[in-house]
Amino acid sequence: MMVDLVVSIVQVHLIFNFCEMIYLDNAATTECDSLVIKEMLPFFNVNYANPSNSNNQLGSHIKELLNYARESFANNLNCLPQQVIWTSGATESNNLILQGVIKETKRRKKNFRPHIITSSIEHKSIINTCEFLKSEDVDISYVKPNKEGGISIQDIEKEINERTTLISIMLANNEIGTINDIMRLSELTCKMGILLHSDATQYFGKQEIDLKKFKVDFLSFSSHKIYGPKGIGGMFVKNHKTLSPLIYGGGQEFGIRSGTLNTSGIIGFAKAFEIASSDYTIEYSRIKNLRDTFEDHLLKLFPQLIVNGSNLERLSNITNITFPIKSNVFLINVINNNGVIACSSGSACDSAENHPSHVLTELGRSSNEAKNSIRFSFGKFNTKKDVFDSIEYLKFVLKTHELK
Ligand code: PMP
Repeated sequence: MMVDLVVSIVQVHLIFNFCEMIYLDNAATTECDSLVIKEMLPFFNVNYANPSNSNNQLGSHIKELLNYARESFANNLNCLPQQVIWTSGATESNNLILQGVIKETKRRKKNFRPHIITSSIEHKSIINTCEFLKSEDVDISYVKPNKEGGISIQDIEKEINERTTLISIMLANNEIGTINDIMRLSELTCKMGILLHSDATQYFGKQEIDLKKFKVDFLSFSSHKIYGPKGIGGMFVKNHKTLSPLIYGGGQEFGIRSGTLNTSGIIGFAKAFEIASSDYTIEYSRIKNLRDTFEDHLLKLFPQLIVNGSNLERLSNITNITFPIKSNVFLINVINNNGVIACSSGSACDSAENHPSHVLTELGRSSNEAKNSIRFSFGKFNTKKDVFDSIEYLKFVLKTHELK
């Protein structure tokens, strides 16, 4: 068995003699852009002072550079600089928004039992925070997606009651890429006086977000999905008073998120966002073209394959495909063992445990179908060659693991 595995890995590498692994996992994380790295480097050994210590000349210089980064970031979102709060990433932003809103609501209204509406296909940083909040006397309604993976505004509306404090619906799904109509949802929440949060992690930096049009109260985003460094992210908070902090300290980030600022991370994230927002159309159409070419060719070769999620309202970089294979093998393990292409089966949390993806089972896929579904996500460093090489490789794999 072991010998077989080694032989097949050697065979694959002899046939697919690519110089480097083809990286099709850009929804999990992206390679840091060299322009971003260049911008960050001086913040490790030249501009290393603490910006919170503005008595010190270097500290106040760095504070100025950070102010500039926050202003340009806010400009690209069409919001005020003080509405951008830096965190360690979208997981923290999601936790801080959901828990912070509940904490503030309970502080103001004694004996009030808040209610949150979210969807059953959110990222685990939303779902697990909601599950925790249940133990804090909060009611949670999970709205199910339609077959296409979209969340209907009517279905959200049906769940609203007089205790509904917050609605949290992602802008785009991380596993299947489907996009929700947050602009229209924000009209409803504004009318009803309910706070609206959207986890924009996958959409952010790929399509424009104008916060004068998306009338949300909170938005979460992360740097490492847009060719920036890991461990830095942020959130848009329309009104600081709607949220209580979860950690206490030196009062950085307007008292909402204490802790010494991650200066190199902030500078890198701001640069990555500046690059992304300088022209959404070129990258959008180039990456969409790679994704569509990949998807069209595979579907022509193997009509049994199923693409998960709406074709119309979908991010340009993601395709999530169910491979109905005959053998009792998980295709993702075969692909990962061969090491020719990097891709994933849905989200990292589910893949690690080999659990079927909660997003795909909510769409009606069986546990087996979900386990044999793979997310391929393209990015700006991918080429046409990557597309055709990976198709050749998949043809080879599907010869040994026949489709039903
Ligand atoms: N939300 C979504 C939709 C995501 O895709 C991710 C990253 N997988 C997160 C939240 C968490 O982001 P971070 O890695 O910055 O904590």
